[in-house]
Amino acid sequence: MRLIFLGPPGAGKGTQAEFICRDFHIKQLSTGDLLRFHRKQGTELGRKAQQYMDRGELVPDSLIIDMIKEELVKPEYKNGYLLDGFPRTIAQAEALDKLLEELNQKLDYVLILDVQTEEIVTRLTARRTCKICGKTYHLIFNPPKVDGKCDIDGGELYQRTDDNEETVRNRLAVYEKQTKPLIDFYTKKGIAYFINGQGEIEKIYKQIQEILLKTKRL
Ligand code: ADP
Ligand code: AMP
Repeated sequence: MRLIFLGPPGAGKGTQAEFICRDFHIKQLSTGDLLRFHRKQGTELGRKAQQYMDRGELVPDSLIIDMIKEELVKPEYKNGYLLDGFPRTIAQAEALDKLLEELNQKLDYVLILDVQTEEIVTRLTARRTCKICGKTYHLIFNPPKVDGKCDIDGGELYQRTDDNEETVRNRLAVYEKQTKPLIDFYTKKGIAYFINGQGEIEKIYKQIQEILLKTKRL
């Protein structure tokens, strides 16, 4: 199964992706996580991406597309994958179409998570992320079992530098302008499914499971 998770920053893509990948045995590919990894390693790509990420702007398409091409051919994606945070522009979606054709692969689903703006600001300004595995928490809505520590690996939780209100609002504006047109792009392909991203985390996952199980294309 191959799917794309679309939706504004803070919609809960990463949170839900963890459950989907666990239950459907596929690999998550988050371009945001991958870029943060490059930054931490101090690679050339990481250095180039930093200035855009800090401002909440998109990293140039050519850098992202090259990164994805290098990643998706790895054996761990053979059984299927969930793309989280990619594609984010029409140019990226077209490049993905081309790559899928070359790899003789087909997309099964595009899941679109919808959440209102003010809820997103509340979510992201109190989001905490694990330094080791990248799992996200919310100080109030989804707290870790032990304060400041990841439930999975005990890693220290930190606040991403782009999770401040000003940058979050810019990221939302960037989403509206550059990423939202993808909803139409994938609706036309007949593989888009809409999910209300507000409410309890478990109930949202139930909606997703229903879609993936009812329209089974495993
Ligand atoms: P994304 O990957 O789409 O940017 P995350 O999965 O990191 O979003 O979620 C953003 C923040 O919102 C995190 O702090 C997460 O714990 C919290 N969150 C996720 N789903 C919900 C929900 N249904 N209700 C409230 N908070 C949520
Ligand atoms: P995310 O972790 O998905 O919230 O992404 C964090 C930041 O990484 C974004 O604000 C962008 O600067 C950059 N980024 C992640 N994915 C992409 C992408 N597909 N295209 C361009 N920039 C991206």
